[in-house]
Amino acid sequence: MTIRTLVWGENVHEKMNKTVAEIYPEGMHNQIAKLLKSDSNISVKTTTLQEPEHGLTDKVLEETDVLIWWGHRAHGDVSDEVVERVAKRVWEGMGIIVLHSGHFSKIFKRLMGSPCALHWREAGERERLWVVNPGHPIAKGLPRYFELENEEMYGEPFSVPEPLETIFVSWFQGGEVFRSGLTYRKGAGNVFYFRPGHETYPTYHDETVGLVLRNAVNWAYNPNRYPELNTAPNTPVDKAIEPITARGGSLHESGEEGFR
Ligand code: ZN
Repeated sequence: MTIRTLVWGENVHEKMNKTVAEIYPEGMHNQIAKLLKSDSNISVKTTTLQEPEHGLTDKVLEETDVLIWWGHRAHGDVSDEVVERVAKRVWEGMGIIVLHSGHFSKIFKRLMGSPCALHWREAGERERLWVVNPGHPIAKGLPRYFELENEEMYGEPFSVPEPLETIFVSWFQGGEVFRSGLTYRKGAGNVFYFRPGHETYPTYHDETVGLVLRNAVNWAYNPNRYPELNTAPNTPVDKAIEPITARGGSLHESGEEGFR
């Protein structure tokens, strides 16, 4: 089994901010990719906003099992056409892992259908992530909690739909709490939101964060494709499994295609 994983990086802060460039000299996307390489199930590629079609052509998505998304400053620069293409691929069964400020990305909002807003504070405070679902595959091998010495605070309320599962709850030194690891299923696609990863702190050099991401890629992988989940075909009376006769009024002619 090989899980073809693509790390998508916005790749903007690295070019504008000296601190970020020092922590991530090869770009955040390449450091995230490095964290995945110790898992022999995972093959990893990277791409960025600056590539044609943001590096997310139909062909690339066709060859991607799990997409990882880090964006912040340039959410608005991602084309709506690409967002729809990615959403459609998720509904067909591609896994997606949205990181940190990706909570406000077009793709995450599209998949959630809600504002995805939260409270935040940038003070480099300690984050303690509690594992609240220790039996979950994403929590495999983790201690009861782990800490990141410097992180941006995200606080509740986080205006996302009630998740399928909550894996982590974060506590911050300033007193707030946040649901920092959430799963969803959208169509046939597995979705994981993971909170840590502010660009001016070395979060993606942390080995425990690496373990969470490797676990999440394995969890999100769905080898099957369900393109039919994106269509609404008529299954007419004369094609019914058992013979039936149409009763009452119907707007649709038998055999009509593509009415939605
Ligand atoms: Zn941030």
